[in-house]
Formats: sequence, structure tokens, C-alpha cells
Amino acid sequence: MAPGRLTVITGPSGVGKGTLVARLLAKHPSIWLSVSATTRAPRQGELPGQSYFFLNREQFELQVAEAGFLEWAEFAGNLYGTPRNAVEEQLAAGRPVLLEIELEGARQVRRSFPAGFQVFVRPPSFAELERRIRSRGTDSEEAIGRRLQRAQVELAAAEEFDAILVNDDLDQALAALEAQMGLIS
Ligand code: 5GP
Repeated sequence: MAPGRLTVITGPSGVGKGTLVARLLAKHPSIWLSVSATTRAPRQGELPGQSYFFLNREQFELQVAEAGFLEWAEFAGNLYGTPRNAVEEQLAAGRPVLLEIELEGARQVRRSFPAGFQVFVRPPSFAELERRIRSRGTDSEEAIGRRLQRAQVELAAAEEFDAILVNDDLDQALAALEAQMGLIS
């Protein structure tokens, strides 16, 4: 079977990547979404092995030392990484693979998978992004501050990506993503 295509979705925390990806997967069940590892504490409702593999720093660093991650990065004080084996297996089986990761990880994947397709999701405005992060109601004020600071760096890098989409209206953003990924014509 021909190797599957790798797509990366990046964009500032709170932009709605998770919702967009969930909608995409519901419509296109053949797409395989990588489950990342993180040292962040689970949020309410997050399930181990489904939302993330929740690891402590020691466990995470062991996997880094064993080259177990395709990419990894520190984000707002926590470590996040894409487990390598599962992604490689899915691609080898010819499945389309999706990674939802932050900027540094996307840059690493760009180097190791130059043929991959990378999409950047923007908010309609910075004020709207801040509103969305706050309305999630799960992060401390300090964590919100770190995420907003990081969002400015990520937004400045949007032009590095193969495609940019604005997540204002969810249905429209989904249609744009499907078109960019070649899922609809
Ligand atoms: P959150 O803590 O809100 O779930 O995620 C914070 C950021 O980490 C988001 O931008 C998310 O896309 C990113 N992220 C999630 N998993 C990974 C990963 O495996 N690698 C990298 N580099 N970033 C990730």
C-alpha cells in the first residue's frame, strides 16, 4: 500500500483546533489522529490514552532519550510529544495521519517529513482568542498569560505554513480545511 499522507495542524492555544479536528474526524473516519504524550495534568473530562498519554517528566524524558518521539517541545511549562512508532505504522499502512501540535513541533516535523502538509489555524482576532482561552475556564491566570504570550509568537509564524485558515465560523473553517486537505473538491 502507498504510504499515507501526513498533515500537521498548528495554531495558538484556544483557537479551536481541537473542535475543528473532532469535526473533521467525525466526517472522515479514515483519518488517524495521533495521541500525544504530555506532562501537563489532565483537564476535567480528559481521558488517559484518548486525550493524551499523561506522563511525568521522568517518563517523558526517558522516551526522549530512547528517540521515542517523532517531535517534542515544551509549551507553557509542560512537555508535549508525538509517539513515533504509531505514526510510522499508520503511514506505512497507507492511512492519512493527522498531528495537532504546536509551532516548534511543526517545525521539527517539517524537517523530517518535508512532503507533509502543514496548516495553520488563526483566530479572527487576538481579542477573540483571549476570550476563547478564558471561556474554557480550565487554566490558571498564570497559564492563560503564558498561552497568550506564546500565541503572539505562533501567530507571527503563520506564513511558514502551506495553508492558513481563519477559524471564525466553524462550518466554514471545516470546509476550508477539507478543501486544503483535498478531501472535497
Ligand atoms: P493543551 O495543553 O491546550 O492541550 O495543548 C497545548 C499546545 O500543545 C497546543 O497548541 C497543542 O496543539 C500542542 N500539542 C499537543 N500535543 C502536542 C505534541 O505532541 N507535540 C507538540 N509539539 N505540541 C503538542
